[in-house]
Formats: sequence, structure tokens, C-alpha cells
Amino acid sequence: MMNPSIPDLLRDLVSRPSVNPMGPDLRGHPYLEAGVTAYLEDYFRALNVPFTRQSVAPERENIVARFESPGATRTILWEVHQDTVPVVGMTIDPFAAEIRDGKLHGRGACDVKGGMTAMLTAFTRLVRERPAGAANVILACTVDEEHTFLGIQELMNQGIKADFAIVAEPTLLQIVDAHKGVARWKLRTEGRACHSSRPDQGINAIYRMGHVLAAIDQYAAELAVTPAHPRLGPPTLSVGRIEGGVSVNTVPDSCVIEIDRRLIPGESGQGAREHFINRVRELTTVPFVCDPLWMACPALDPSNSDTVRQLLGQAIDAVEGSHEVLAVPFGTDASTVTNAGIPAVVFGPGDIRQAHTKDEWIELAQIERAAEILFKLATI
Ligand SMILES: [Zn+2]
Repeated sequence: MMNPSIPDLLRDLVSRPSVNPMGPDLRGHPYLEAGVTAYLEDYFRALNVPFTRQSVAPERENIVARFESPGATRTILWEVHQDTVPVVGMTIDPFAAEIRDGKLHGRGACDVKGGMTAMLTAFTRLVRERPAGAANVILACTVDEEHTFLGIQELMNQGIKADFAIVAEPTLLQIVDAHKGVARWKLRTEGRACHSSRPDQGINAIYRMGHVLAAIDQYAAELAVTPAHPRLGPPTLSVGRIEGGVSVNTVPDSCVIEIDRRLIPGESGQGAREHFINRVRELTTVPFVCDPLWMACPALDPSNSDTVRQLLGQAIDAVEGSHEVLAVPFGTDASTVTNAGIPAVVFGPGDIRQAHTKDEWIELAQIERAAEILFKLATI
């Protein structure tokens, strides 16, 4: 097998759509990761390294390849997601993978097929050169990062062993060692429907929700002044959607809101939901029902990642001259990896400001430097 160049590799990945349906049961072009998974399988087979596929959901599989270094003293996990966000509203052809001015354009170029290209390039170089004293590297390409984190959860459930992990996301080649987590759930009020000309005969679920919302508003204000994480700030809560009623001449019997709760290290989504229910029930007597969490991702806790932060920092300095260690507002797979006992930080080429955008792109030169840094990290 020839070593594909970085532009060729990234073009191959971007031109294979892997759009996350974000909930609805959508299949076929351009949805789901199967085209990228098949490409990666061919790639690892040609490279002649051991790999496994893990079924996560119908047509959705993680693929995990291994570089085994004789006499290695450590094992590093490199994790990267295969899926992208949807392409609605994009102003460029999402899958043309066009290169202009040293930038490759397309859905996933920045988030995170550029990072995947860097990991594949460094991994391939390790396999080809087999440097003495290199670490073992497990390269795990997972599904469903953009919606419910099924891929990384399955990877960790299978019991992977590594000393530390690098999770690819666009960080402009800096180290991200802390971020908040998120938990989401729906809350509903119920009433009794009747004709709106005799509202006294019914119970208005929207009015009930009004009272509950006032209590939630107060609860959110209380949360904002609870002890904050020194780098991430306090936990927060926001109501992002509301839905209720069928027509203007019917007293509504149901109203639903959707809650987004940002978690700091040490908090669990489950615990946050229970705390919310207990406190809001003290603040209002109006009855409401909370659904189970439909999504939860913990915060990335930096307290155990000293070793990986230091070694990755050394590798970045060797290529870039210096580096920064940052906390960011967005969530990643790194927190799930850390919570499973493998300290993880986030690192990759590209700028998060270009992720999920209508003309997403990445600078090819940054991918090359990221690959160099990852290779150095494995051979320090
Ligand atoms: Zn991403």
C-alpha cells in the first residue's frame, strides 16, 4: 500500500458522507457512518494491522486498530469520531472536498475528519517505521459523537486498556483538559382539555407550565451562585424548547419543555436531574413530570491528566515551540474516556469556530503538524 498524502486522505474521508441523523431514523445517503467505516477497514487491512469492528447500532460500527510496538512501556489510545453534523443550510457542496488556498472545504473537514487524517497519518508512519521504544497505539474511530455518544460508550464498555488518551477535536493544536458536561431531559405538565369557550371546565396545561417555568427560573438563578469550578465556572440550566396545545379554541391538556443542564466535574446527569426535581417541587406546588434523561455526557475533569498533559505538551513544543492548556465550553468524548479510568485530553488541528458551519474548512498544513506531534508523542 502506498502512503496516501494528507490531502488525498482527507478528500477520501470528506467525500464519504457520515451525517449523524441527530435522532430521527434516517438511513441511506448521506446518513450514518458505514461508508467511512468501510473505508477505514480497507485502510487498516492494507496496512496489515489488527483491527476489530464493534457493532453499536444498525449500520453503525466503531472500528479499532492497533499498532503493537515490541517492548513498549505504555499504551496510548487515540480516539476520533466518524460522524458529522447535518448539511442543511451549507453554502458549499458538502462532499466535494474542494481545496483552495491550502484549505480543504466540506462537511466534517474540521470536525473531525482533519483530526482523523492526522491520526491515520501518524499511525501509518508508526507502522511503517516501527521506531524503537515507541508506545503501543490503539486508534479507535467511533460513531455517534454528535448526538448521543453511543460509540464512545460502547468502546469503554468493551473494557479497553490504555495509560492515557488523546481525543481528536479541533483545538488549533492546543491542549484542552477541561470542559463542562451536559444532561438533557423533557418536563411535562398535564391538564384537561375542553372547548375554549368554557375554560372553567378544563385545566390549562400551559398555565401550569407558566408556574413551573417561574420556579425553574428561580432554580437556575440559585444554580448560578453554587460553588463554581475554578476554570469552568458554575453549573447552569436553560430551557430551550416549549410545545403545547393543539388549537387556539381548545384548552390544552399537555405542555412540554426541554431542559439543557451543563455539568461541572463531580456532577452526574442523574444527580443533577434529581436535585432539580426536589428543589423545583419546593418552589411550586403545581404538578409536573420529568422524563428520564435522553442524553448525558459528563464534564471533563482535569485532575488526573498530569502525565498526558505533560507528554503531549512536550510533543507540541518540539513542533510548535510552545503550547497552551485550555478549558472550553463544548463537550467531547474525552470525559467518557476519563470517567472509565483512562485520563484523556482533547487535541487536534483546526479551529472549533469552523466546526458545524455552512462553509466548513480546515487548513491542510495544520493537519501535517498535528500528525507530526502525534508521532512524537508516541515516540517520546
Ligand atoms: Zn467533533
